[in-house]
Amino acid sequence: MKVDYIIVGLGLAGLAFTKELEKNNKTFIVFENDSQNSSMVAGGVYNPVILKRFTPVWEAANQLKIALPFYTELEKKFNKKYNHSLDIYRIFKSIEEQNNWFVAADNQQLSNYMIPKIEHTKIEGIVSNFGFGKLINTGWIDTKSLLNDYRNYLFNKKQLLKEDFNYSDLKIDKNSVNYKTIKSSKVVFCEGFGIKKNPFFNYVPMQEAKGELLIIYAPNLNVEALIKAAVFVLPLGNNYYKVGATFNWKDKTLEPTEAGKNELVEKLNTFINTSYKIVEHLAGIRPTVNDRRPLLGKHPTHSNLAVLNGLGTRGVMIAPTAAKQLYNYLENKIEIDKEYSILRF
Ligand SMILES: Cc1cc2nc3c(=O)[nH]c(=O)nc-3n(C[C@H](O)[C@H](O)[C@H](O)COP(=O)(O)OP(=O)(O)OC[C@H]3O[C@@H](n4cnc5c(N)ncnc54)[C@H](O)[C@@H]3O)c2cc1C
Repeated sequence: MKVDYIIVGLGLAGLAFTKELEKNNKTFIVFENDSQNSSMVAGGVYNPVILKRFTPVWEAANQLKIALPFYTELEKKFNKKYNHSLDIYRIFKSIEEQNNWFVAADNQQLSNYMIPKIEHTKIEGIVSNFGFGKLINTGWIDTKSLLNDYRNYLFNKKQLLKEDFNYSDLKIDKNSVNYKTIKSSKVVFCEGFGIKKNPFFNYVPMQEAKGELLIIYAPNLNVEALIKAAVFVLPLGNNYYKVGATFNWKDKTLEPTEAGKNELVEKLNTFINTSYKIVEHLAGIRPTVNDRRPLLGKHPTHSNLAVLNGLGTRGVMIAPTAAKQLYNYLENKIEIDKEYSILRF
């Protein structure tokens, strides 16, 4: 078989790049071995405001201009809703936080999202003695449904192989690569934390951050917005909520842990006063680079090997922009923005 591209990994990074290839009529084959599941478990939230300090997220407004139409196109393609727009209510801890909110809402970069007002709405099941700050133009992408649909679609078209990509079987020539019976012009590696096993790109400084989440059933919690306090509570419908997420920089295992669950429950109980049942416990590893920027570019010596990684905590917003940049670099020789480029290492 002869293709333009081999793609390794079909999380958000692989999906975004593959979609770019489809749009440009390139041929490709994808390898996916279910060894990582960051994109599958993610909260999927897009929000251009850092809710700890009320500061702008790096490049978020620009990334959203590309990301939102990207998800709309996929909704049309599969005739399904993935983008759920949702306001965010940030619980204030103090009067000082309320004051900081007003100052931040004045910032031109944030005024599209932060409402300069203190919300005193009573929400059944939620404790908020200092009220809420409300964010608009935010929401979440159902990444799990989207990836499942996209994987099925490619599998049915025989463009997805559900197997390991074994690096040792890759033979690299000057203008092409051979992998078993496949000849390809290029390989793009999109393995998330799996990059650690990639002998061509494992030199990049990844600081993987494991995250755990709970799905709870809370019949008396009457919440229609995303509530953010020590953890977020994201309404999924029918009284189910996603609660997350932890950050663990040491544990590199994929499994949910008792400690992770206890941390989430403890934090949740600081602002929820209604009963709930835990129905699922999930974990994944965020592919985070030490400077919190993405990783795009070619291998320093093998120019037909490229990488799309480092989406960190914000894959939903970054992936579509990153994929476009990488595609334009590989096909049209347009330089990648410095902050996205692997050349910084
Ligand atoms: C708990 C948690 C909550 C999160 N919440 C949010 C959020 O609310 N909003 C947001 O934007 N982001 C969130 N993220 C971050 C987001 O999930 C990541 O930025 C994004 O999913 C990374 O996508 P990726 O495709 O780079 O990596 P991954 O999703 O890890 O995908 C890599 C894929 O490559 C495959 N693979 C690896 N090696 C091989 C191989 N050798 N052969 C074949 N296949 C291989 C893996 O199986 C995997 O499917 C969260 C992450 C976690 C863990």
